Amino acid sequence: MTTVLSIEHLSTHFSTEEGTVKAVDDISFQVRRGETVCIVGESGCGKSITAMSIMGLIEGPSGRIIEGIIDFDERDLLKLSKHEIRNLRGNDMAMIFQEPMSSLNPVLTIGEQIVEPLIIHQKLSKKVAHQRAIELITEVGIARAEHIVKSYPHELSGGMLQRIMIAIAISCQPKLLIADEPTTALDVTIQAQILDLLRKFKDESGMSILLITHDLGVVAEMADYVIVMYSGKVVEEGEVEALFNHPKHPYTQGLLKSKPVIHERQDELYSIPGQVPSPLELTPSCYFHDRCEHCMSICKAEEPALKDIVPQQKVACWLYEEAVVHV
Ligand code: SF4
Ligand code: MG
Repeated sequence: MTTVLSIEHLSTHFSTEEGTVKAVDDISFQVRRGETVCIVGESGCGKSITAMSIMGLIEGPSGRIIEGIIDFDERDLLKLSKHEIRNLRGNDMAMIFQEPMSSLNPVLTIGEQIVEPLIIHQKLSKKVAHQRAIELITEVGIARAEHIVKSYPHELSGGMLQRIMIAIAISCQPKLLIADEPTTALDVTIQAQILDLLRKFKDESGMSILLITHDLGVVAEMADYVIVMYSGKVVEEGEVEALFNHPKHPYTQGLLKSKPVIHERQDELYSIPGQVPSPLELTPSCYFHDRCEHCMSICKAEEPALKDIVPQQKVACWLYEEAVVHV
């Protein structure tokens, strides 16, 4: 399968008055064509910063991509100009967020906001773009599209606005859709509909999805491949079946304690005792050691590297180090 997005050794740091926060710290992963990759982890683990780094949305003065390669469709995004990145966004690569309201302009109609990227990126005439906007609204499952184009964002519900965001995102047939908690603000029934819609477009168009979520139910339902992040690091990754059936990292095992079933939704999840360490107090170690019931002395002194444990599954944990040495 062709690789659409390849992230290598990406580090995004923020300088604060108290010191440097390594929000994303040397992570690598790939997204292949037609695949849905989910990045999962608790709030503050670096998953949104990863998405923003890819989209070129880390803007100074405090935030900076320190190093790494973001290779999208055979272009290193970190070497592109601001203008080239802007061209890419909303064209080959689109993004939807948790709060659609924050991405829509309150003083423009829904129609104007769908039409704009069609005119800019797809070079459609105003008339054709308007027609396409009506089709797109219908495609995302909203009735009376002719009426909706004339509405303003505040006149629509959260679920409808997220559908509009999806319409805008897919309007330019992106190769990659990045969705950051796209259903978190919605009620459960609407969540399921939005996920269905994303899956439908993915299947029809062959686009890839990078889905950021803290919700393992969403992961179970959507993911082909899963990346588990903790304190800015990837601690485990693998094919969804392998990862759900045989989680290796104690953090992943904790996340999965309530056992969401693959391809089914579930709401209440077990929460792991303890807290994520302060990003300002990290020393070389496994950052999960304070919360880990298997913690050994090496865990507090050295950082475990992310390694292949079995085919299609990598883990960063000292528990598996011996096994790695002996295979
Ligand atoms: Fe637990 Fe040690 Fe593995 Fe970290 S490296 S998850 S502390 S056993
Ligand atoms: Mg977030």
